[in-house]
Amino acid sequence: MLNLENVRKTYGSLVAVDDLSFTVKDGKIFGLLGENGAGKTTTFRMIMGLLEPDKGTITLDGKKIDYKETDKIGFVTEERSLLTKLTVYEMIEFYGTLKGMNKEKIDKKLDYWLDRFEIKDYKFKKIKELSKGNQQKIQFISAVINEPKLLILDEPFTGLDPINVGLLKDAVKDLQKNGCSIIFSSHQMEYIEDFCEELIILVHGKAVINGNLNEIKENYAKKNILIKGDNIPVEKLEKINGVEEVEEKANEYVVHIKDASVSKEVFDVIKNFNITKYVVADASLNEIFIHYVGGKNE
Ligand code: ATP
Repeated sequence: MLNLENVRKTYGSLVAVDDLSFTVKDGKIFGLLGENGAGKTTTFRMIMGLLEPDKGTITLDGKKIDYKETDKIGFVTEERSLLTKLTVYEMIEFYGTLKGMNKEKIDKKLDYWLDRFEIKDYKFKKIKELSKGNQQKIQFISAVINEPKLLILDEPFTGLDPINVGLLKDAVKDLQKNGCSIIFSSHQMEYIEDFCEELIILVHGKAVINGNLNEIKENYAKKNILIKGDNIPVEKLEKINGVEEVEEKANEYVVHIKDASVSKEVFDVIKNFNITKYVVADASLNEIFIHYVGGKNE
């Protein structure tokens, strides 16, 4: 279990991370979100023991993170860090040895992951000769080769096609099932919605949202009504008090309402039309993110 308590980090007069507290339990995937410059990388670096917090404590399974604990953390960084002149085998052997593994175990694990990611033939190829997507898979393998207790994934799916995203997603879910604690950071909210029960949204280093994703969505008053049907009276809907916008998508209308109570009036307006879909849904995480992050920057 990873635990951060009241962590603060400044660079000169800039407060990069301010009074940050959260816990990632074993077998849980925790979302750490924030716009560019919000303090995510600084937080990761403190967790990795690369930066010392000015205040607060960070522990993994109750122990302060020093070089021994760092071996138990895997990190897929946003800026890739591959030794591109080496072969896949040489680089993974290098990282595995640094993490205290013997060659036999490294070889066995590497074969497992190469097979799983359908790139067995690349074991002795130079990394620079691999496609971006395959380099991404090698980056992932280097982070998980020693079965870390904590895995930090910063935009792990960038540059991957949907099939390869699927392969990596399954791998992340299996690591979770095996008890790994995972921090997941991405600007692609659909991945966060897919993976994370709990999350934090950082704005200027401070958590403006912290908690369970379902509860965050339920407590967020604004809702969306998804409607499919013929000749929907858009102008009439727009005039209803509490309707903020009627969005016309390729296959349906999305009526953005200020809270669930507006739904009844919307329904009254369209009930005599030929409707094939009428669903009142929570706002998306993307909308919630824009609301909090956008609002703070205005
Ligand atoms: P991104 O999504 O763009 O990677 P981030 O959320 O990871 O952003 P950080 O890199 O942690 O954000 O930066 C937080 C703040 O601290 C920013 O204002 C950044 O300019 C500043 N910062 C980061 N590293 C340093 C440093 N070494 N010296 C001074 N300021 C820094």
